[in-house]
Amino acid sequence: MPDTKDLQYSLTGAQTGIWFAQQLDPDNPIYNTAEYIEINGPINIALFEEALRHVIKEAESLHVRFGENMDGPWQMINPSPDVQLHVIDVSSEPDPEKTALDWMKADLAKPVDLGYDPLFNEALFIAGPDRFFWYQRIHHIAIDGFGFSLIAQRVASTYAALVKGQSAKDRSFGSLQAILEEDTDYRASEQYEKDRQFWLDRFADGPEVVSLADRAPRTSNSFLRHTAYLPLSDVNALKEAARYFSGSWHEVVIAVSAVYVHRMTGSEDVVLGLPMMGRIGSASLNVPAMVMNLLPLRLSVSSSMSFSELIQQISREIRSIRRHHKYRHEELRRDLKLIGENHRLFGPQINLMPFDYGLDFAGARGTTHNLSAGPVDDLSINVYDRTNGSGLRIDVDANPEVYSESDIKLHQQRILQLLQMASAGEDMLIGQMELLLPEEKKQVISEWNETAKPENLLSLQDMFEKQAVLTPERIALICDDVQVNYQELNEEANRLAHLLIEKGLGPEQFVALALPRSPEMVASMLAVLKTGAAYLPLDPEFPADRISYMLEDANPSCIITTEEIAARLPDDLSVPQLVLDQAVTQEVVKRYSPDNPNVSVSLAHPAYIIYTSGSTGRPKGVVVTHKSLSNFLLSMQEAFSLGEEDRLLAVTTVSFDISALELYLPLISGAQIVIAQKETIREPQALAQMIEYFDINIMQATPTLWHALVTNEPEKLRGLRVLVGGEALPSGLLQALHELHCPVTNLYGPTETTIWSAAAFLEEGLKGVPSIGKPIWNTQVYVLDNGLQPVPPGVVGELYIAGTGLARGYFRRPDLTAERFVADPYGPPGARMYRTGDQARWRADGSLDYIGRADHQIKIRGFRIELGEIDAVLAKHPDIEQAAVVVREDQPGD
Ligand code: AMP
Ligand code: MG
Repeated sequence: MPDTKDLQYSLTGAQTGIWFAQQLDPDNPIYNTAEYIEINGPINIALFEEALRHVIKEAESLHVRFGENMDGPWQMINPSPDVQLHVIDVSSEPDPEKTALDWMKADLAKPVDLGYDPLFNEALFIAGPDRFFWYQRIHHIAIDGFGFSLIAQRVASTYAALVKGQSAKDRSFGSLQAILEEDTDYRASEQYEKDRQFWLDRFADGPEVVSLADRAPRTSNSFLRHTAYLPLSDVNALKEAARYFSGSWHEVVIAVSAVYVHRMTGSEDVVLGLPMMGRIGSASLNVPAMVMNLLPLRLSVSSSMSFSELIQQISREIRSIRRHHKYRHEELRRDLKLIGENHRLFGPQINLMPFDYGLDFAGARGTTHNLSAGPVDDLSINVYDRTNGSGLRIDVDANPEVYSESDIKLHQQRILQLLQMASAGEDMLIGQMELLLPEEKKQVISEWNETAKPENLLSLQDMFEKQAVLTPERIALICDDVQVNYQELNEEANRLAHLLIEKGLGPEQFVALALPRSPEMVASMLAVLKTGAAYLPLDPEFPADRISYMLEDANPSCIITTEEIAARLPDDLSVPQLVLDQAVTQEVVKRYSPDNPNVSVSLAHPAYIIYTSGSTGRPKGVVVTHKSLSNFLLSMQEAFSLGEEDRLLAVTTVSFDISALELYLPLISGAQIVIAQKETIREPQALAQMIEYFDINIMQATPTLWHALVTNEPEKLRGLRVLVGGEALPSGLLQALHELHCPVTNLYGPTETTIWSAAAFLEEGLKGVPSIGKPIWNTQVYVLDNGLQPVPPGVVGELYIAGTGLARGYFRRPDLTAERFVADPYGPPGARMYRTGDQARWRADGSLDYIGRADHQIKIRGFRIELGEIDAVLAKHPDIEQAAVVVREDQPGD
């Protein structure tokens, strides 16, 4: 073809992208592709070199010259340059292969100037008399993976011919010109338009492309690789299974990759990158050049779909995209306006090498090892079918900007595990396939949930009574200008308890409490518990219809209230009232014994019922037993070890369960409670004043309240032990509290699992979003996907909670209870777990990150509210309205 030699051609679609990327980043060596062939057997070096020269001369794409003019880049097919084969003897090195590899890697890291440098480099390493490594590095603009295999085979067969004394002349490669013309023709063809339309239609709705990385994509100038092998026995099983699934083993590998991406991300729209030879029915089948294309393989994957259904879908989809395989992915990206690194056409790539990798150099066997297949945008799974009996080689290549070494290793191991599972040939639901490695599963299910502590046999009232014996004179409670000591508080509670017992109260009954924030309120709570009954706390400031609703629903045996509050309660109450006015109080003191009532209460009975709004409609009563309450209190006692020196400021309405921490933790520890009134709580200045005045050293509140305090009166908080929870803790707030040297504990938990279920003790200097910590005593937390399978650390799932804190359920709502308290597949037989509706993620150290809600529920000053119900709730509840303004203004700034 002498006349073609000085013609200038424009670049093919496949070359153009590489050319521009290389010009933009001239020092980036990532477009070097390379492999080495390990040859076991004798090699005549002179003949090998002769064969190589011959083949390279024929391979026109290796001696193309590039340039650029007004119309853009061009290429010209030049005569072959002089091939220099580096022959390097590494046989006397302690580790010949390593020495050779170091050389190769150094060579591979050299950037190539496309206008000037040769496009390839060749070396032959002598590792021993019968062991050689033949290394080739070729710029990606000149070659693709298939091209490499064409050259290697030609060198092997030419060498074999030379060894036999035959001439090197053989069939030659096809002409590069034919490919260049084919490309130009295609782009002017009707097929091109059809293909373009096909792809535009397929991606018209702009799917969100997911990746396994949790960081935003960035291009890199290197890649990380992990190599593993699927043993031959498994490969045979895989091929067998493929037949069973009526697919090819390639499709099984693709399906496994799609399952992996789906299970790791939860996305049901999975787009994989599928490299295609791009040579079908083309002159290029016999031309070493850069022809390959990368097609986006878009699949819909769901956990309720079976593996074989997915295989069928993949077969169909591949058939369909094959018909349009020539349309360049770079062009499609432009068409779809996916500009910039953040807009990908596909996530991970699955590269199945269909070429024969067994080479024969006149009797010496050659095995190919890929060193670099070009840039890795995200993650690429490269599978080589070895004909030499070593099974499937599976390389996971990844962009080091977004993946770490350990990420890749884990991805690879999990993918291999899935592949082995698929090879068992049993059709499974995708959601049921085991994703985690055995050691990971053990870690997230068991090790990070090793919270077992002896189950407490004492109820809260027992613990309090013991404390009252130990420290009768010590002040238990301060409220306004009243101080009550332990003995007084216990006796007041006892008298009231005797009265209630006389009225017939006992286990499995409810007593409603509508009382001012006062010592009487605390005494009444204790009194109810002492009878064995459970209390229903009502905040007198709650709207009347909410109070009526709770009373109607819980149907308590009586309501303890005051004259003043009784007047504000709905008048149609059918519940018997015990009004603690002066006369009654005096009567109680006169008539009833101050001694502990002699009732033994089983811990299995309820201690309280608390109403909480949920994701649906009417509030529901969460019934919590003594056992859950005691377990919680003991866990907190261990965590905070309160004592005589400690004074806690109680700021939470009793209608929220977390008030139990404020009231009971001090009382079982010999510490003091100071009760703040509503008016004070609403005024940050007044509240801070109180903290200072009473020398408070520990307080629990929502982030909203802490924010108000920190903003208004930071100095008065200095050194205070801060317990925060109920809503996500913004990192800015944590930092502000730490600047005041406040030790901060972030507490997390729904009412349904008793007050708090996880705690994080946050050290000063922590960066980023604060954790919600680890499970408390006798508590298990699981982060599961929607098939109830655990997700690996670092992956977002829904949080489930099991263990001693689990409430009995929703009062008289078996349907709702069954929906949210579900069988715990990881606990002992019969165990249940609560589905929180919160999204969470494990950190590598076994603590949890709170991510957000899985539903549309939000929290405003402790109230769980459906987003759609906000206006209705605010209209009824001015108190929340105030808080809502605060929440809106200080949208967590992180
Ligand atoms: P409640 O039942 O009122 O305690 O509300 C429980 C819900 O509050 C949880 O399911 C979370 O959505 C949210 N929540 C509680 N504590 C935290 C916390 N520390 N961080 C983030 N969200 C929290
Ligand atoms: Mg809570």
